[in-house]
Amino acid sequence: VPHLLVIGGSDAGIAGALAARHHDPSWDVTVALADRYPNFSICGLPFYLSGETPNWRDLAHRSAADLTEAGLHLALETTAVDLDPPNRHVTVAQDGRCHELVYDEVLVATGAKPVRPPLPGIDLDGVHTMHTMADAFAVHERLRDARHVVIVGAGYIGCELADAFTRRHLDVSVIEALPEVLSTVDNDLGRHVRDELTGHGVRVLVDTAVTGIRSRERRLHVSTGSGLDVAADLVIVAVGVSPNTAFGRRGGLATGGRGAFVVDRRMATGIPHVWAAGDCVETWLPLPGRAGYLPLGTTAHKQGRVAGTNAVGGDRLFAGSLGTQVVQVLNVAVARTGLRDSEASTAGYHPRTIEVTVDDHKAYYPGATPMVLRVTGDIDTGRLLGAQVVGHRTAQVAKRIDIFATALQSALTVDAVSDLDLSYTPPYSSPWDPVQTAAQTWLSAAG
Ligand SMILES: Cc1cc2nc3c(=O)[nH]c(=O)nc-3n(C[C@H](O)[C@H](O)[C@H](O)COP(=O)(O)OP(=O)(O)OC[C@H]3O[C@@H](n4cnc5c(N)ncnc54)[C@H](O)[C@@H]3O)c2cc1C
Repeated sequence: VPHLLVIGGSDAGIAGALAARHHDPSWDVTVALADRYPNFSICGLPFYLSGETPNWRDLAHRSAADLTEAGLHLALETTAVDLDPPNRHVTVAQDGRCHELVYDEVLVATGAKPVRPPLPGIDLDGVHTMHTMADAFAVHERLRDARHVVIVGAGYIGCELADAFTRRHLDVSVIEALPEVLSTVDNDLGRHVRDELTGHGVRVLVDTAVTGIRSRERRLHVSTGSGLDVAADLVIVAVGVSPNTAFGRRGGLATGGRGAFVVDRRMATGIPHVWAAGDCVETWLPLPGRAGYLPLGTTAHKQGRVAGTNAVGGDRLFAGSLGTQVVQVLNVAVARTGLRDSEASTAGYHPRTIEVTVDDHKAYYPGATPMVLRVTGDIDTGRLLGAQVVGHRTAQVAKRIDIFATALQSALTVDAVSDLDLSYTPPYSSPWDPVQTAAQTWLSAAG
């Protein structure tokens, strides 16, 4: 029986394993993972910590029993340490002992690990990162007697954690080196998130670099380049992730930008019988038309599916990532897809960007709130290049960004977006959906 070995049991690994079994059930599929939480949604960790999802077991996309039922063999707490492509085997460590697993095809889905900047005090007790179930359990435990939390980094994970701890009535400070929080959107849109955080009592310091962490009188003290000393019972460092590639590199897999594995759109690594997917690989970005490192759960699932299918004889291409993402921070939702104005210029387009503020649905129906839509299109071709949306969490921001994302993937012009047949009833929208009002504003600006 042919054997697919998958290294990594999170979004990419499990998606690959299931896709392989689906494509050709005659394959034997083993998933080896370093921890004991196969198929857990780490995207849900902030909601476990906030108390909105109180039972961590609920974070499993599927239970271990479901996975076994689907025909997967799970090797838990099994860490792959060496990859030997000529002999098609992987050395794994389990219970302190090493042994070899043979494969016909192997899928490397070892994901990412949080960046730990070389700050003095980064290894002190009480300083945590947030990527695994174990990280969440450790923080959960620490929260029992924590009052003051400092979050270093205001990307989407830092912002989600600030939201989570605010919901737990903790005293939260967020320290960000860049001029604004949530740098995935334009600064003046990130500003809405900062205002939401500060409006709920979070202390947000932007343009502020952390220079070190000290432990004094049973508390942690975070010092900043501006001379501040912020006391905390718990510090979370959320300054991004880097691809987790040590294992694959031992097998000779090539790495590119940010050290992620280079793959083609079939998720092949170039080393025979070795595939890779998820946060450990470079992602194909159709806009601007090159590979880049853009680790996201949505992408990991799709790449895993492509890799698993192809590994057992199928033929799928990864369509690419437009960088579509949405995040909720307290009562604000923020989303983006495609290119922002500056990114479009860098990519060689001739962009124009407009902004509109419109009600999310008809004002006469209760609960209407203003939402901000920013649309970027190419002046030369009229093609849509990207969009950003900010609104109240009830304003269906995700629906709006997904319309733009679908239009982008279909290479529509901004004009064509205005013609889309979108749904309408007063509680949800207007006869012209805000997406279309934004598109029409872009067209008017074009003259
Ligand atoms: C707090 C948080 C919130 C997030 N929210 C979102 C969101 O809202 N939307 C979104 O799209 N994305 C989100 N993400 C990102 C998303 O979770 C990741 O992109 C996704 O988990 C990547 O999946 P992966 O399988 O590639 O890697 P990972 O999830 O990093 O998993 C790697 C797997 O490999 C295993 N492993 C690693 N090394 C070895 C080894 N040597 N041997 C054996 N096993 C190994 C690990 O145990 C694990 O099973 C969030 C991430 C975090 C941390």
